[in-house]
Amino acid sequence: MDVQAYIPGMKPVEPGPLARFTPPLEEGVVSAWLPAHAPAGSWVLDPFGFSPRLALEAARAGYRVLVTVNNPITRFLLEMSARPASEADLKAAMADLAAAKKGNERLGAHLQSLYLTPCEKCGNEIFADSFLWRRGEDVPYARIYTCPHCEDSGEREANPLDREKAKKIASTDTLHRSRAFERVAALEDEDRVYAEEAIEHYLPRPLYFLTTVINRLDSLNLTPERRRALTALILVACDAGNTLWDHPTQRQRPKQLNVPNQFREYNLWTQLERGLSQWTETSSGVLMEAWPDQPPESGGICIFEGRLKELADQVKKEFPIKAVIGSLPRPNQAFWTLSALWAGWLWGGEAVEPYKPALRRRRYDWAWNATALNAAFTHLLEMVQTSTPFFALLSEPEPASLTSALTAASAAALDLSSLAMRTQHDPIQLLWICGEPLKRQTGKADPKEVKEAISAHLAERGEPASYLHVHAAGLIALAKRNALKQKDLEFDEALRGTQSLLQAALEDDPRFIHYSTGESVETGMWGLQNLSSGDGDSSVGAQNAQLARAVPVSLRENDTKESLSDRVEIAIVTFLQKHPDSIFREIEQDLYPRLPGLLTPSQGMIYAVLTSYAAKIEGTWKLRPEDAASARRHELDQIAGLIEAIGSRLDFSTRRQDKNYLWEQNGRVERTFYILASALLGRALDETRFPPGQTVIVLPGGRAALAAYKTQRDPSLAARLKRVQVVKYRLLRTLIELPVLTRETFEEQVAGDPLENSRSQMIMF
Ligand SMILES: [Zn+2]
Repeated sequence: MDVQAYIPGMKPVEPGPLARFTPPLEEGVVSAWLPAHAPAGSWVLDPFGFSPRLALEAARAGYRVLVTVNNPITRFLLEMSARPASEADLKAAMADLAAAKKGNERLGAHLQSLYLTPCEKCGNEIFADSFLWRRGEDVPYARIYTCPHCEDSGEREANPLDREKAKKIASTDTLHRSRAFERVAALEDEDRVYAEEAIEHYLPRPLYFLTTVINRLDSLNLTPERRRALTALILVACDAGNTLWDHPTQRQRPKQLNVPNQFREYNLWTQLERGLSQWTETSSGVLMEAWPDQPPESGGICIFEGRLKELADQVKKEFPIKAVIGSLPRPNQAFWTLSALWAGWLWGGEAVEPYKPALRRRRYDWAWNATALNAAFTHLLEMVQTSTPFFALLSEPEPASLTSALTAASAAALDLSSLAMRTQHDPIQLLWICGEPLKRQTGKADPKEVKEAISAHLAERGEPASYLHVHAAGLIALAKRNALKQKDLEFDEALRGTQSLLQAALEDDPRFIHYSTGESVETGMWGLQNLSSGDGDSSVGAQNAQLARAVPVSLRENDTKESLSDRVEIAIVTFLQKHPDSIFREIEQDLYPRLPGLLTPSQGMIYAVLTSYAAKIEGTWKLRPEDAASARRHELDQIAGLIEAIGSRLDFSTRRQDKNYLWEQNGRVERTFYILASALLGRALDETRFPPGQTVIVLPGGRAALAAYKTQRDPSLAARLKRVQVVKYRLLRTLIELPVLTRETFEEQVAGDPLENSRSQMIMF
């Protein structure tokens, strides 16, 4: 497998409308990948249309992107981002809505009045930003506002008037509720019950608001452009109006239609206004045509609403696809059900018809996901030439979703060529090569091979890894053999089989050590037994012998001892020495190819190294003057001198052996020192051949936070350091100044300078 480097991107400044349901992808990734795999102007296929951003970015990079979408809401998002409504139309649509009549009132004033609440401090009537509810209650318990008169702001207990208002709106609810589901499903329709259930996720006030506004979509007599603009604004309100907004926020990205214990009811008028700025900020035009019209060679989007299989014949004849890109869909019952509901509300029953199955299905499990992905992959292979590359992003990865995706792909004859993973919080970057389904042979899963693959990854990493990492290492080994699914098995059996194989591989093998307080294999971290010994007097020699037995021959030539975090530190400092004033992205671009695939370091680790060694000045990183190589060499000599001077005051003679400074008395070694200019603790431990209880590692104060960060994230390092003293240069400088220095004071001082004190600057992951 030709492992590719993780392609770094940028977090979007504005996540855009419905961001909690669209895949969280970085920008600049697919446009960096494409040029190396397909000439500009060529056809690229996005078979899922799951992420509007992805197709847009490819089109902007000069490709013709054929996108298939069957979710009407995702399709609308894609259309709106490709051909955004103008700010003028959005504003005009909002103004038209506000100016419409509701009895003697203006509609805008009427709708806003639904959210009036008395300020607790000054008593003026003001608009609440939101009301807070507890599940199952019929009135809100609190409200959140900022008073424009007295500036009182925050969460305040609900007022009797708030409760009265909520009850009054609830009294007319039946009518609005029946209107709301008639738009989705006709009365005799068998889907009525599902539509009703979905609508249960709207409280009476937002439901009244939304049905009132949606009715105006039909009656306002808007130009097509303004209608489209208003539809976009209402869509934002549809999302803001449901009960899936927990308070305080924990579940940022809901997957299921579950009402939280406490939730927020937003002021939907404010949300319409917020929609205005959200849609305006997504603006950037890309040419878009509806199938079968084609965009120009300079790039654009051709959108096909429907399923992939309906396209196969025609595409193969007329659209030579050079590459496939896609954000892999993951089951989201909440979004899919709501999509059907919203499509019905916004465009009527006909629009929801092809998507109605989403309303009915209650449970989406990973076997369902694998079956659906496999069907899509199979149709895809009918449309493209053998050897076409497929770059896929798996966002919000978890072990089960990765197994599902790799199994579905392997069973469809997509050959895994590369898998690059940063953390569980970043999308996994997969590269498949389209194979030949007819020539496909499945292999047998070999537990031994899986164990070797996991062990090889851990040895190469030189430190423990998350379960997701070792799981991925095992899956890659199975994918290479086409052993993820036997032909006669259903997907649920295949996925279960793989899961228990991987679990057994970790649990059965004495080489693997689980650092975890939890029972499940998926918690905590996994490491190699021989890398974590450090208690007692085990010498490095013995450790190395163990390591040599565990590491496959091909890896032994590499530097397997050095931990990933130490390698990251070395690489970044070396890069900054050669390239001062680099931006973060340039550092990532240099680093990731050195540590490809599953080794990709986290951004948290990069920041930990950068903040230890460098300063960010006007957006670029520069090594601190004290960390210039010459300054550090001078300091190392100084510290060596101090060790000798302190030793002589304590009646020890000091002798240097390799990189260790030994305090001796009567020919016996009493204390040993290892001086670091870096935070390469792993290296220091490897190069210290003395019992941990005797060893003192000395490092610069500026490195202590980084050392603490490393110890905190790497339980094997923490275990090896258990009985080793780590002190800062400063301590030695203080000791030499003491008028009276005894061996007892020395021991006390050394024990009282723990790394833990440096943890305040820590960054997780
Ligand atoms: Zn006030």
